[in-house]
Amino acid sequence: MKTEFHKINLHIHSTYSDGRNSIEQIVNAALKTDLEYICITDHFTDSWKADHIPNLNNLDKIKRYLEDISYFQEYIIDQDKKLTLLKGVEIDLGSSEKFILNNISPGKFDLILFEYLETFEGIVFIKKILNFWKKKNHIEFPLIGLAHFDPSYFIIRGLDSLLEFLKQYDVIIEFNSSYPQFYSPKYEIFFNKLKESGIKVSIGCDSHHISNLNDIESAYKMIDFYHLEENFKNLIDSLDLKSFV
Ligand SMILES: [Zn+2]
Repeated sequence: MKTEFHKINLHIHSTYSDGRNSIEQIVNAALKTDLEYICITDHFTDSWKADHIPNLNNLDKIKRYLEDISYFQEYIIDQDKKLTLLKGVEIDLGSSEKFILNNISPGKFDLILFEYLETFEGIVFIKKILNFWKKKNHIEFPLIGLAHFDPSYFIIRGLDSLLEFLKQYDVIIEFNSSYPQFYSPKYEIFFNKLKESGIKVSIGCDSHHISNLNDIESAYKMIDFYHLEENFKNLIDSLDLKSFV
């Protein structure tokens, strides 16, 4: 692995959804690693999944979640370590538009991941949400990413409108080491297009337990394999430019 790669894990679940550890345990575990950026991205959904996993399903819980993360952002600063904690959320695209718009204030988050983008209709849905948010939020807008994105549907039906969307809305593609099948070499055509277009790529491991907080090696290897170092650097630059806390 190349040394200039910054170590990040921007996809972590806590006890606010289906993760096994509290934010405090995650932060303390991360402080013992060489991770530079971590993001808590608990689930948000009102789809069928909501009956099966705890998630950030109401404004009160979201408020407590964000306050909890704020507290540990300050805590990390006091430790004087090279770690930055980000506020994230993972929105299930099976959620209703109304539920998302009523509960998620984008300005309160640093990173919003959408999971299960698998169709052209899904792109239209995300655009609608983003356009609504952009109209309401003129100042701080979070980073937007696609969690464990499966490119197969778009490779078969056409990549152009997907790439257009990613470019226009500055959407990040996540290399999720819990789903290595989605960055398999059989999808090389997609990753070559990402490279050409300068689309940002990030790394998350979808950790649900602190034992795999640092399980990011395979994602770095594949970013290297596809020569997406610049795309990854674009992400790090935008993280470095943002002020968290
Ligand atoms: Zn996840």
